[in-house]
Parts: sequence; structure tokens; C-alpha cells
Amino acid sequence: MPRFEQNLRIPGPTALPPSVMAAGGRQMINHRGPEFAALLERIVRRMRPFFGTTGDIVLLTAAGTGALEAAVVNVLSPGDRVLAVTVGAFGERFAKVAEVYGADVRRLAFAWGTAATPDAVRAALLEESAVRAVLLTHNETSTGVTNPVAELAATVREIAPDALILVDAISALGAVPFEMDAWGLDLVVTGSQKAWMSAPGMAFAAVAERAWAAMESARMPRFYFDLRRARESAATGQTPWTPAVAVMYQADEGLRLMEEETPAGVFARHAACAAATRAGLRALGFELLADPAHASQTVTAAWVPDDVDWKAFNGEAKRRGLVLAGGQGELKGRIFRVGHLGSVDVEEILGAIAVLEEAALRTGRAVTPGAAVAAAQRAALAELGAPVAAVAGGTPA
Ligand SMILES: *Cc1c(COP(=O)(O)O)cnc(C)c1O
Repeated sequence: MPRFEQNLRIPGPTALPPSVMAAGGRQMINHRGPEFAALLERIVRRMRPFFGTTGDIVLLTAAGTGALEAAVVNVLSPGDRVLAVTVGAFGERFAKVAEVYGADVRRLAFAWGTAATPDAVRAALLEESAVRAVLLTHNETSTGVTNPVAELAATVREIAPDALILVDAISALGAVPFEMDAWGLDLVVTGSQKAWMSAPGMAFAAVAERAWAAMESARMPRFYFDLRRARESAATGQTPWTPAVAVMYQADEGLRLMEEETPAGVFARHAACAAATRAGLRALGFELLADPAHASQTVTAAWVPDDVDWKAFNGEAKRRGLVLAGGQGELKGRIFRVGHLGSVDVEEILGAIAVLEEAALRTGRAVTPGAAVAAAQRAALAELGAPVAAVAGGTPA
């Protein structure tokens, strides 16, 4: 592996670039002092273009799930009707958080591997009256599906104009184009360990005016995750509680790298890595879980074929430094997932596909060495607009 001890191909935490690792090792500063205020300001300023917002972004010291909880408890009251649109394990988690705090949750569940459709959301909203909030998953990490958030949000705005739109964008924000303001989203959350190339520990919540207004009357209990308190502190360059300063150093450096690469460059790199992953896995004979029209740019899930001994196969991969993710919830043991987000580059994906080829060979599958790597590389080059037709072997399948 060129840069890391292992090829960590899970959908978060993601591998840290060397300069991000070094940033995390820096000395502490006073979190009530001017250096901290500057750090906080830089992170928020550099994150805004990736959220597509000119509004507030609040930092929370928490796992991503903490930000999901913050989204729910700050804008809702017990008994509020909530439409939870779920396409996998993380959509289910968001729904559960709302339920635990006493919301009246109605689920609109789609088959795992598929995306939510505007038509179904329209029908559900026409059936339910007085929906206070709609919960959406941007990128469902358990299945490798990205929902058409812009279309779904437009449908909500049309049918239920007063409903708040709360979005779990934890696993693709920063890796794909996203326009919170233009799409009319009210609260959007993400986590440091996914596309942001930082260690776990910080979550980020972008809050639009309608969500701030909803907090004035929302009655769910909250203290640590009180976003209004976070906003008051942010006005003085602080956070209400002692934050994970080392993770903020990392996020600051990660964002500096992302700014240097430009958002368009970051998105193109993710698209190329995703295309390479999908083509490589397919060339190895794996069937992909996600509906191709909504395949994620940050994580790909593949079925474990009946004739593959997963333990032996994964063991061969692990021995060669390749770390894959398994399935979650109802897909445990039936799929595996390849993360391709954060600091990932095409060469790391090609390395992963090469290892999978070897693992396939060593576990008795009929594979032509190099064929899947070639398919992956052609797909990446095509995605990047390279003149693939001029390459021996022609255009990708
Ligand atoms: C990773 C992830 C979460 C949870 O994040 P944690 O930091 O593990 O709490 C929630 N939603 C999605 C879509 C995720 O990918």
C-alpha cells in the first residue's frame, strides 16, 4: 500500500492523509481563546460550499448519531407526526431516534438496494395530515444507495410546505455536489470520519432559518445537544462544551486539502473511484446491491455469491492488508461493502481490486489475473474523461 499500513476500504472511519495525522498531534490551545475562534471560523467557512449553504453550521463533539439526535430533539415535540423515509439501516436509525423521543413516526420504507421515489413520498404525504418533519437519508451507507434528495425535497415542499426536512448526509457530504439552500433543506448533518478525512469525534449540523425558528417552540428534552446554545457560543468563537480539539485540527487540515483540490476535483475523484470499484467488482463476478441509477459515489455493496466462502475470501483479503466492511441489519453475512470516500484515490481502488482478484484465485474461483483491475482502471479513466478508446482493450464494459 502506498501511503497507509492497510487499505482501509470501509465507509468510515476513512484513512487520514499524513498532514491530517500530523495536525491531530498538535499541542492543545485554549478553547476560549482567539486561536480557537479562528480555527472554528475556518472550518465553518470552508465547509459551507460543500453543504451548499450560506447559513449556520454548528459543530458538535459527537459521533454522527449524536447529530441525528440533535436534529430530532431541537426541532420536534413529543407527539409530532414525522414521516421517516427509509432505504436501509441508517434511515431506520434516524426513525428510531425520533421514536425514542416520542415522535409519532410513520415509516415509508423502500426495499434495501433501491432509492426513495418522489411519487411514493407524495402519496405518503397526501395520506398523512399534519406532518411536522420528514426524515431523509442522503446516502444510505448500509446499501450503497444515494437518494435523489433534491427531488424528494421538492415533493415535500409542494405537498407539505410547512414540514421540516431533516437530512442525514453523514456519508456522502463533502464527496458529491450538495445544495442545501437551493434544495430547501432545513437541517443537514455530517460526521468528521467520512468524507472529511478526519478521525471520528466531530459532527457538523447545518441549520436553516426555518429550523432555528422551530426550536423556539420545540419541546423535546435537550441539554448537551442544544443547538441554540451552540449558536450563542459560536457568536463568540466558541463551543458550549469542551470540543474534540484534535479532531478539529484534523478537519481544518482536511478542509484545507479539499479546498486546494477544489470541490469539483474532489467530486471527480470520488466519481472515478466509485466507477472503478463498481467495474472491478462486476468484472470479478460480483452482483452489486444498489439500483445502478442511484449507486453511491462513496460506498459500494456487493452480494456474497452462494458459492463463495466469505470467511475464507475475506481472510485472504485481510492478509493482504485490504479491510472491507460487512453487511448491516438484514444484510449481515449476505453482502460486503467497499468504502471509497475521503482521502481515497484511484490507485488505492485498483490495489483493492487486485487483492480481491488474488483472493478470488486463492479461494478457487476462475478469474483471469488482471482482468478486473483492467476493467476498473478503464472505468476510472472513462469517468475522468481520459481518451480510453485509445487504450488497448477499448472502452469499459
Ligand atoms: C456513519 C453513518 C452514521 C452514523 O455515524 P456514527 O458516527 O457511527 O454515529 C449515520 N448515518 C449514515 C448515513 C452513516 O453513514
